[in-house]
This record gives sequence, C-alpha cells and structure tokens, in this order.
Amino acid sequence: MTPSTAPARVTGWRITGLFWDEHEPCLVASHPDRADRSLPLPRGQELRLALTGPRACVGLWDQRQGRRLCERPLPAGTNSQCPACAEQDRGKQLARDAYVDERTYLLYLAWFGPELVKVGMTAAERGRARLLEQGALWSVTLAQGPLTAVREAERAIRRAALATEQVRLTRKLTALERLDEAARDQAGDDLSRVRERALQSGLLDRVQVLSDQVQDHTAVFSLTVPTPLAPFHHRLDPAAPLEGARLVGQVRAVWGRVLIVDLPGRPEPLVADARLLSGYRLGPAPTAPHALPTRAHTPDTGETHDQIGLF
Ligand SMILES: [Zn+2]
Repeated sequence: MTPSTAPARVTGWRITGLFWDEHEPCLVASHPDRADRSLPLPRGQELRLALTGPRACVGLWDQRQGRRLCERPLPAGTNSQCPACAEQDRGKQLARDAYVDERTYLLYLAWFGPELVKVGMTAAERGRARLLEQGALWSVTLAQGPLTAVREAERAIRRAALATEQVRLTRKLTALERLDEAARDQAGDDLSRVRERALQSGLLDRVQVLSDQVQDHTAVFSLTVPTPLAPFHHRLDPAAPLEGARLVGQVRAVWGRVLIVDLPGRPEPLVADARLLSGYRLGPAPTAPHALPTRAHTPDTGETHDQIGLF
C-alpha cells in the first residue's frame, strides 16, 4: 500500500449516502464515535450543507455492526468506496455471486420509460426500498424464492432480451424529462407484456409466481407530469471536486438517489446525483466559500454547457 492510499484518522461527520425506507428518502451522515444522523428529505426541506474535504471512502455497513468508516481518499465521482471496501461489501458480493444468504428474494420488473424495463431482485424484507433507490417509476413483482432460483430467473429474462439488468442514470434522466400523460398506460402495457412473455416462455418455472398489481411510485418521488425537470435545469458536474462547496436550497423532489433542488433566486432546479456528495465531510454552510460546480442542461438537445458557480 502506498502512503497516498493509506486510511487517515477518521474525524467528524461524513455524508455516507442517500437512502430510502418504505416511504421517505434521507441523507445520512456518519461519525466514527456516534450513531448515524439522518436528514429526512421531504418536498420543501431546506438544505444548508457545506462540503469539506478531502473526499474519502464511506466504508462498510451491515445490520450487525452498522457503519464502519474507512477514510481512504477517493477522487470525485459516483463511486463512494475504495477497492478494498468494495471487495468486502455484502451487496456487491451478492451481485457477483460471491455470497449467498438464506433470505427470501423478490424478482421484479422496473419501468423507467418507454422500452426501458429493468429486471432485478431484492430481499423481500427490504420491501420497495430497492425500487425507490433506483428511481423506478412503475414496477411489478413477478415472483419470489431463494436467492439462487431468483437470480437464475433474472438472468433468463435478460438472456431472452425481455428486459435489461441495468439502466444508466443518464438514460433514466432522459426518459424522465419526456414523461407525459401517456406514461402510466405505457408502463402498465410494457410491464404486463414482459410478464406474460416470461411466463409463457417458462422462465419463472423454478420460482413462486406472484400475481401482484403494477405499483405506481411517482407520488413518493413528489414527481408530477410533466416532470419537475422540464424544460431546463442544471446538473452537478460529476467530475468536479466538491470540497469547500456549499449546497443551499429547498428540496423539490427526490427521485431514486437524485436530489432535485430549488436554488435561491433561480427558476430552474438543480438535478444532483447524491452519490457525488458521498464521502465529503460536513461543516456549517456559511463557512463554505465556493458555489457548487454545475452545468446547464437543455433537455431538447441533451447538450450541457459549462456554467460554474451558479449559487
Ligand atoms: Zn474503504
């Protein structure tokens, strides 16, 4: 290990992520000696965050031990764990078949936009938290069973090209900008079609098929049609370091792990991937000297323009 990647002494409060329970998103900060603190993010919540650096790994979390901060340095970006912690992360181990547990899993379809249907799985005890973390607008639960059988069905659906296993955030955002009145019917039609084809093809034969209704998650995100993104907004620059920056505004909506924030004196909202905030230490907002680096985004063209220092 080189000196530059060695963990520093853990001090102060550090943002460790935006998390959902069944109904509400929270921004969570962790401290080496104290219980985690959660800032609920309902519509209208005032934000006054000052980010100090250097950005560092958020460490590991499990139900038994809670958060174990790590502090190895990390560059700006959506990745919030160092390679050593990512290797030990239980969720990532499950994703790469390096770990199996005895819980019951649900197989679901998540709808993000026309022809954008994802197949995925989540532990049944997590309820719809996994769907909300991803920003699924509508969803349907297909089946339940042990991890290995559900994983097998998930992969069979992907191999049959009925749904994808991953939808990138940029594609989800593009679809969200175009959400219109017809989306509800389209989502129901798309999800029902994929479910029927999976059943008819025998892809769910080894799991317990469920006959759940399509679930609508748009209200829990505080989303309206047309969406709060249109016609113009700003995005947090994913490559820019945020240390020394402040985030001051009012929550308009939280969609998945994306914060949509009204900025003081600005008609257009800021769309911020909250993963970019993870790993920074928190200080009092008035002391932060810099504005967040953001880019103006025009939905019609998909172009972004450098426009640093909007607030
Ligand atoms: Zn780490």
